Amino acid sequence: MNELLAAYRYTTNNWAQIQASKLCGCCNCMQIFPPDEITAWAGLDLDRVDDPAAVAQQTAMCPRCGNEAVLGDQSGFPVNAPFLLRMNEAWFQRTLIRPAIKKK
Ligand SMILES: [Zn+2]
Repeated sequence: MNELLAAYRYTTNNWAQIQASKLCGCCNCMQIFPPDEITAWAGLDLDRVDDPAAVAQQTAMCPRCGNEAVLGDQSGFPVNAPFLLRMNEAWFQRTLIRPAIKKK
């Protein structure tokens, strides 16, 4: 698999991976920060906050730009400026496939 595609999978449902990481990076704004800077998580229903499986499926939101595009070093991919730039180019500039906008 393309490594950028593989790494992109780690930017969602990544609670456990982020908790285990020492550094995280955002593929959107390309900032690098420690995981404890992340205070916002997406994808947890309020009626499942006591469900560990649901908690582990949360998606980190970038503390700098708010995007759900955070990659932790525990993903096995490098969290550094060159790699984040490649991710950014692949997913946010050139090849990101957006769903067609439905017209009413
Ligand atoms: Zn960001």
